[in-house]
Amino acid sequence: MRFASTRRGCEPVSLSVALRQGLAGDGGLYVPESWPRLTPRAPAEDLPALAREVLQVFVTGDALEGLLADVAREAFNFPAPLVSLDAAHGLFALELFHGPTAAFKDFGARFLAAALARLGAGQGAGPRSGESAGQSAGDSAAARPLHILVATSGDTGGAVAAAFHHRPGVRVAVLFPEGLVSPTQQQQLTCWDDNVSSLAVRGRFDDCQRLVKEAFADAHLRARAQLSSANSINLGRLLPQTVYYWAASLALQRSLGRPASFVIPSGNLGNATACVWARRLGAPISSIVLAHNANRTVPDYLQDGVLRPRPSVATLSSAMDVGDPSNLERVTALYPDATALRDAVSAVSVDDAATRARIRADYMRYGRVWCPHSAVAAEAYTRLADTAASGPWVIVATAHPAKFREIVEPLIGRPLDMPANLARLFERRSSYVTIDATLAALEGAL
Ligand SMILES: *Cc1c(COP(=O)(O)O)cnc(C)c1O
Repeated sequence: MRFASTRRGCEPVSLSVALRQGLAGDGGLYVPESWPRLTPRAPAEDLPALAREVLQVFVTGDALEGLLADVAREAFNFPAPLVSLDAAHGLFALELFHGPTAAFKDFGARFLAAALARLGAGQGAGPRSGESAGQSAGDSAAARPLHILVATSGDTGGAVAAAFHHRPGVRVAVLFPEGLVSPTQQQQLTCWDDNVSSLAVRGRFDDCQRLVKEAFADAHLRARAQLSSANSINLGRLLPQTVYYWAASLALQRSLGRPASFVIPSGNLGNATACVWARRLGAPISSIVLAHNANRTVPDYLQDGVLRPRPSVATLSSAMDVGDPSNLERVTALYPDATALRDAVSAVSVDDAATRARIRADYMRYGRVWCPHSAVAAEAYTRLADTAASGPWVIVATAHPAKFREIVEPLIGRPLDMPANLARLFERRSSYVTIDATLAALEGAL
């Protein structure tokens, strides 16, 4: 299998080249060239075995083929439980927050890190070079270290830092906006050492993102290091996310005999794209609902067919504060016009007041404590028509509520227990460097 750019401006590449490059040479995003129908037989709860089966087709003929079993075992070493919320209505929660930083991003970040480490991170194609795997083997860039740059507004940086920490041959720089992340988030972004550096940027999230883009475009920096991205533009984060959609939908198909529908808390649409891809590859999935907060670019696009990216607005579900979702380009590559897209997915926008009310209501009703992101999906679910007839329905729970205890505890009126994985991060010492929002300052720090 090869992967083509959504913009069709460069040659398709193999998976390992796509992982190293992050972004395609023409500025587009890599997507599979074809969509075989898969019929995996592994038990739904055996994520490493399922991952081997459903990802095999993407690595055939690539340097990753012989490494897939090890990468899958390492990336999927924590569960994704499907928990019944309301058996009579066929309502479930898919808990994706049992990894090292208690958010779904751990799956993709760990897969990407495990794959790059085994590929020999310091070798091969530089970013945007557009060359094929064969050409890259003798690349003179072999000696350049791999630098992963991540701009984060909260969750991504922690997951990527945790996944790459202590990996030889890879350095990670996490850029976050100084003073604009929660205390809990800041600890997760800054509790690393060794090959991970945390940079507090004097500016906003948009400045962090701009700096990363400027670094990618800077010839001087790229001569010294291979730069890659671990944001969800990287295919290495998206493909492994299809695995938990396979697992949940196969479990429900096998036990209830019906395809499942998913409501997904969405920002950059990385998680939702994985669900759309799993369905395209044959997973027994019926409806897919994109649950957005007040950043309503996608719901508006589905409604009136005009795409209007805009600056993001701050909400309680901060990891979904995206005004110009990058992975929409991958979804529209499959469903090019708004009519086709409307048949494939639907979208709902939920404001902060309704999110707060949903956290209270579902705690009273089910004893379930949502994080603010998962609560957006839980609220979106209540606004759908005919859910009783069309089930089973799965609300995707993207983070552990204790990550957002400052918001959640006052709403439910009790303290939350820290899960052991998060507690471990809080035992670590925090350290970071503060820099101005300029490329010169970033270069100095790197
Ligand atoms: C990143 C994140 C999201 C949004 O995921 P996308 O793939 O960007 O749509 C939702 N919830 C949580 C907790 C996140 O960290």
